[in-house]
Amino acid sequence: MSATAARPPAATEVDQWLERFGAALERGDAAGAAELFAEDSYWRDLVAFTWNIKTVEGRAEIADMLEQTLARVQPQGWHATEEPTTADGVTDAWIEFETAVGRGKGHLRLISGQAWTLLTVLDELTGHEQGLGPRRPKGVAHGANPERQTWLEDRAREAEELGHTIQPYVVIVGGGQGGIALGARLRQLRVPTIIVERNQRPGDSWRNRYKSLCLHDPVWYDHLPYVKFPPNWPVFSPKDKIADWLEMYTRVMEINYWGSTTAKSAAYDEDAGEWVLVVDREGEEITLRPKQLVLATGMSGRPYTPEFAGVDQFQGDQHHSSAHPGPDAYRGKRAVVIGSNNSAHDICAALWEHGADVTMVQRSSTHVVRSDTLMDIALSGLYSEQAVAAGMTTEKADLTFASLPYRIMAGLQVPVYEQIREHDADFYARLEAAGFQHDWGEDGSGLFMKYLRRASGYYIDVGASELVANGQIKLQPGQVDHLAEDAVVMADGTELPADLVVYATGYSSMNGAVADLISQDVADKVGKVWGLGSDTTKDPGPWEGEQRNMWKPTQQEGLWFHGGNLHQSRHYSLYLALQLKARAEGIDTPVYGLQEVHHTR
Ligand SMILES: Cc1cc2nc3c(=O)[nH]c(=O)nc-3n(C[C@H](O)[C@H](O)[C@H](O)COP(=O)(O)OP(=O)(O)OC[C@H]3O[C@@H](n4cnc5c(N)ncnc54)[C@H](O)[C@@H]3O)c2cc1C
Repeated sequence: MSATAARPPAATEVDQWLERFGAALERGDAAGAAELFAEDSYWRDLVAFTWNIKTVEGRAEIADMLEQTLARVQPQGWHATEEPTTADGVTDAWIEFETAVGRGKGHLRLISGQAWTLLTVLDELTGHEQGLGPRRPKGVAHGANPERQTWLEDRAREAEELGHTIQPYVVIVGGGQGGIALGARLRQLRVPTIIVERNQRPGDSWRNRYKSLCLHDPVWYDHLPYVKFPPNWPVFSPKDKIADWLEMYTRVMEINYWGSTTAKSAAYDEDAGEWVLVVDREGEEITLRPKQLVLATGMSGRPYTPEFAGVDQFQGDQHHSSAHPGPDAYRGKRAVVIGSNNSAHDICAALWEHGADVTMVQRSSTHVVRSDTLMDIALSGLYSEQAVAAGMTTEKADLTFASLPYRIMAGLQVPVYEQIREHDADFYARLEAAGFQHDWGEDGSGLFMKYLRRASGYYIDVGASELVANGQIKLQPGQVDHLAEDAVVMADGTELPADLVVYATGYSSMNGAVADLISQDVADKVGKVWGLGSDTTKDPGPWEGEQRNMWKPTQQEGLWFHGGNLHQSRHYSLYLALQLKARAEGIDTPVYGLQEVHHTR
């Protein structure tokens, strides 16, 4: 664009674009609509057009998606909901639209009058809205009624019937924060649902973790759907406090939660179109027959422990980090923690605080970001007290985040981590001088991309790095060869004397939960869970553009995955709940672009 060319005001630019776009869609002109996008462009759709979570890239893919969905979706009424803004040549707009079955929201970025990114999300199904705000339940039927049932009686009856004389439409296996958030969404959508959870009480998956654990993400990022943390809630929730919150939440959100219940086996009955799910509820075997089965068994649900020779010879205590009881019993003892990511650092620091002699075994490089810096530089625009003061709501922050297609997200993250690198240059220099192998992700895109790609390989520093830098936590690089009676022996022969060995070696994919509960065949059919296909370590290509299998239809009919951190669990639970509700109501839900399976685990 020449320096003198007058750029139309952002609002006019957006209105004109939406008008042309809406008109092309209304006349069924997929190619014409795609022409309104830049050559290098992205349309991310959460359920509204595709009944899927799908990003299409470039005009040809956009046209294809529209050709296959437009006649059914019948989108209309495109308009901006607030004054668009322009910065650095990019015009940003919040938008709304309607489809044949629901109401949608979205976000648009225009460059030189062409769409660079478009996000469309289904927000509600017409006629099946959530009972919120003006639609809230009355809670009482005024008048006189000899058959009157109280709220408590209704709840008791529901608990007696559901799963016994009435089958739930959905069963969620796993009642951690993921299962609970989805359960709350489905409750508002009036989808009969049971959560089965092996632990006794909601929140136990946090309670059972090592005692020093506090969330690494700040409170603004962590709200659950519908019920926000109060303003006095600490920035970083201690694990037992968040557990109590989840327990309270489960109760007040009226979730049908079967604690002390283990899902033992599940098989899909093709003829009946439903699952045969066998659970053990406090010793009683019950068979449930839901139409939809959601696995919310946790990204960190299946501990992974490498098989080292000599573990049966070792005379001290040894356990995976998920089973670490905390440091109290190890005062004055020699502890070797194998691993150098979040859990390893937290456990090492707590052991050091309790007077143990601690060695961290670093087997591969780790990305470290100081918590304060991460909050200031990476999160503060969307999730912080300043963001709240500037009018940023959690919903808007989540949609802003969702509006960035994964293909471009890594590139946008690189400058953020360059800034962090500069900001904390002394810190990184000291860490590396201590021998700590540090990386920024293979393309320099830092922590969040590592999380999305492989959910491992990083530490959000809340203090342990200082102990590593000053040598108070000893660092041992290299690979473990075997365990001796009283030591961990490294491949180069170095012996690390040990009374305690902690395997902070991570977790295996949720795909394994499918194999455990259903079958290896179904696990292979569904494929790897998590990752984007970025062709980086632990996230092999080809590029898939969305997180594998999460919150969207899978290759196994009626099988879904839910989870992720509190932010993802909050945000994506809505779109998964809407997909389930639509099926419960018999709405036609043809899936565009069902993901292919490239990796089995
Ligand atoms: C040390 C550590 C620190 C973390 N810090 C953060 C953080 O700061 N912020 C954040 O957002 N996330 C954090 N996470 C990630 C954390 O795991 C998840 O955010 C959270 O636990 C995910 O919730 P979830 O419900 O998906 O899984 P989980 O909490 O793991 O819940 C899964 C549940 O499924 C149950 N289950 C599994 N199989 C069965 C079965 N067959 N039958 C019945 N029940 C079953 C399990 O008992 C478990 O309760 C951390 C994880 C770890 C390990």
